[in-house]
Amino acid sequence: MDKQLSKNALQGVLGLSPYQPGMPIEELQRQLGVSNAVKLASNENPLGSSPKVKQALAAAALGDLARYPDGGGFRLKAKLAEYHGVKPNQITLGNGSNDILEFVSRVYLGPGRAALFSAYAFAVYPLAAQAQQAETIVVPANPADHAQAYGHDLKGFANAMRDDVSVVFIANPNNPTGTWLPPAEIEAFLDSVSLEVIVVLDEAYHDYQQKELRPNSEKWLKKYPNLIVTRTFSKVYGLASMRVGYGLSHPDVADLLNRVRQPFNNNSFALIAAEAALDDQDFVRKSVEVNSSEMARLETELASMGLSTLPSQANFVTINFERDTADIHQALLKKGII
Ligand code: PMP
Repeated sequence: MDKQLSKNALQGVLGLSPYQPGMPIEELQRQLGVSNAVKLASNENPLGSSPKVKQALAAAALGDLARYPDGGGFRLKAKLAEYHGVKPNQITLGNGSNDILEFVSRVYLGPGRAALFSAYAFAVYPLAAQAQQAETIVVPANPADHAQAYGHDLKGFANAMRDDVSVVFIANPNNPTGTWLPPAEIEAFLDSVSLEVIVVLDEAYHDYQQKELRPNSEKWLKKYPNLIVTRTFSKVYGLASMRVGYGLSHPDVADLLNRVRQPFNNNSFALIAAEAALDDQDFVRKSVEVNSSEMARLETELASMGLSTLPSQANFVTINFERDTADIHQALLKKGII
C-alpha cells in the first residue's frame, strides 16, 4: 500500500479485509474452462425468480429511462407495509439488506462505540463496524456438542454487553452456519437490553424457516422500539441481481436510517421487480418446498459419504469437515462447483 495514498485513510478502513463474494459463474468458466458451473456460494435461489417479475421488467424497459427512480419507493413501501402490517414510515429501503446494515453502522457506530455479534456470524457485521472505527465484540458461538453447534449464544451476548455497545447484530437464521434461535430466546434477550442499544435482527432467510420456528418479528417492533428487522429480496424471491432489501423499525429509527441513505439507492427496475416479486407468494411457497426437499436429499447424500452437516433452517447447509478446507474448495472449483 502506497504510504502517501494511505496516510489519511481511516484506521478502521486500513484494517479491513474486503468481503469475499462467491466467484461469478462466468469467471470460473473463463479461468478454468469449465462449462455448466454450479454456484452454491451466495445462497441464491436456484429456481431463478417469478415469471411475473420478468413480465413487469419487460414492460418497464419500454418506459422512460431518462428519469430518476422514485427516491421514496412509494409503491414498494405501500406493498411492504400491507404485507408486514406496519406503516410505510417504519420502512427503510436498501440496495440489498446489506445497505441497511451499513446505514445502522453509520447512524449508531463510531469511535468509542462497539458492535456485538456472534463468532461465525454474517461476515458483513465486522466490516460495517470497523469501517466506522467502532470496536467489535465477538461472542463465542455455542460449543460443538450443543444441538445448535456454532450458533449464536444469546446468554453469552447478554454477559458480554458493555456500556459502549450501541449495536447488536443477530442473524436468524445465520449465514454461514444455518443455525437459528428459538423466538423465546430472542425475546428474552430483547427484554434484557437497554432501549438505547439498537438490536438488528437480520432475517435474510426468514421465509425458509419452518413456520413453527419463525419469530413474529413484526409483532416485536411494537414492544421493542430499539429493534430493526432486516429482510431481503435476494434469497427466496430470487432477485439477488436487483439489490433490494429493507429494514422495519420504529418510525424514529427509520427516520435516522433514511438520513444517511442516498436518495436513489434503489433503481427503477429494482423497485418494479421487488413489487412484482412480493405479489407472487406462490413462487415463494414453491421455492421453500423445493429447498426443503432438496436440502433433505443433500443431507442424506452427504451423511452417506460420512460427512456431517449442521442442522439448517436456511437455503444452504454447512458441512463440518473438521479440517482446513482450502484444497476442497479448489478441487470443487475444478469440477465446476463454486
Ligand atoms: N444477511 C445475511 C445473513 C446474508 O446471508 C446476506 C446475503 N449473503 C445478507 C444479509 C445481505 O444480502 P443482500 O444485501 O443481498 O440483501
